[in-house]
Amino acid sequence: LYVEHPLGEGQTIPLTREQAHYLFGVMRLNISDAVSLFNGRDGEWRAEVAEAGKRNGSLRVDMRTRRLQMPPDLWLMFAPIKKARTDFIVEKATEMGAARICPVQTDFTNAERIRQDRLQAHAIEAAEQCGGTYVPEVCELQRLDRMLPGWPEDRQLMFCDESLVGAAKTLGKAQGEKWAILIGPEGGFSDAERQRLHSLPFAHAVSLGPRILRADTAAVAAMTVWQQALGD
Ligand code: SAM
Repeated sequence: LYVEHPLGEGQTIPLTREQAHYLFGVMRLNISDAVSLFNGRDGEWRAEVAEAGKRNGSLRVDMRTRRLQMPPDLWLMFAPIKKARTDFIVEKATEMGAARICPVQTDFTNAERIRQDRLQAHAIEAAEQCGGTYVPEVCELQRLDRMLPGWPEDRQLMFCDESLVGAAKTLGKAQGEKWAILIGPEGGFSDAERQRLHSLPFAHAVSLGPRILRADTAAVAAMTVWQQALGD
């Protein structure tokens, strides 16, 4: 179960109405039953039910069962598409161990806004589901052309596009490097964006195969190649 509170031995964690409903209404837990907790910062802790009500309750934290496992430092940048597909990308990026998920506005991106809080909640749910101890940060929507000037010196950018170079080949030569993956929108990148990206020393155009993948498929494919080449 994900909680916002700091976790430490002997702490009492009050439950929200939704959490109480889930633990006592859906999972049918009772006083003294064990619950596994994480908050994305302090690792995984064992707790037990101290109070159980229909709409509230509390847990008492007992001992740490796992240290925080930071994922490798991968960013996934993608142009948001339809709601369900964007949700899918956030869920899969969390499962694949992205450290940061950045929705970006490109020239052909239709979305003007995203619900960052909703996407962050999806990342929390996905982390709960896959047994992670870390929750990736979902960033606010930013314009790609504003992100590039301040690009961090120690990070490479793999932009997925038509290219003669396969993603695995590019990553295979980059052990020890930090990476960000960039996936374009349904309409792909504009000529101006392509030109700009090709001119940047840290940006590498890569192919994900001969067929045009939907953006959500491309995101999963790119993270899978990265996982095989550089993940742990
Ligand atoms: N009509 C668009 C074009 O010609 O670029 C297709 C865009 S595709 C639906 C959405 C995004 O997925 C692309 O911008 C790219 O980032 C990624 N993508 C899809 N298939 C790919 C492939 N075979 N290789 C590399 N990237 C791909």
